[in-house]
Amino acid sequence: MKSICVFCASSRAVDGVYHEVATDLGRQIARLGFELVYGGASIGLMGAVARGVHAEGGKVVGVIPEFFRKKDKEIEYADADELIVTEDMRSRKAIMDERASAFIVLPGGIGTLEEAMEIMSMKQLGLTNKPLVFINTNKFYDGLIANLKEMVDLKFAKASTLELFTICPGPAEALDFILTYHPEKSESKWL
Ligand code: AMP
Repeated sequence: MKSICVFCASSRAVDGVYHEVATDLGRQIARLGFELVYGGASIGLMGAVARGVHAEGGKVVGVIPEFFRKKDKEIEYADADELIVTEDMRSRKAIMDERASAFIVLPGGIGTLEEAMEIMSMKQLGLTNKPLVFINTNKFYDGLIANLKEMVDLKFAKASTLELFTICPGPAEALDFILTYHPEKSESKWL
């Protein structure tokens, strides 16, 4: 079975619309027969995606570093079908990368951004060519896209940087992009 890795907010305080989109994404991942690989938490959008997958009878694989479990036992998504406990954050990311055939980024904070940027820079170096899709709920990622375009304009980044990812309005378009993904033709109509 193919896995989709989702990076997203751990925050519980964000507007309900972000939780709804996260749950919907989880449901659609499961309906398509993909398993979810993610950070293994029960909170925020992370928990919402995992519960969405389970609502449709899908499989949830959580990859969580030991220190999160020590810090707060409640954080972990106890219903995960598989919970992989890693020594640290770096080995966690390595496992998520290995297991996933595609990456979806929902709105999030610096943890989400860091995970997404790592995949983007690995793609830039040719170390992976798996699809990377941002879901732009409420235009959340417009600022990041503008910043990336400015980097290109000012020659801090190559024009091809904008081909390392795509951005979609919602889960259906993101999953459609993944299902029809071809590394040579990954330009986005929403960019
Ligand atoms: P943030 O966007 O800062 O909320 O960070 C979310 C991302 O960082 C997720 O995709 C997780 O992989 C990781 N992360 C942050 N907080 C947690 C947590 N409490 N438990 C597990 N993973 C977390």
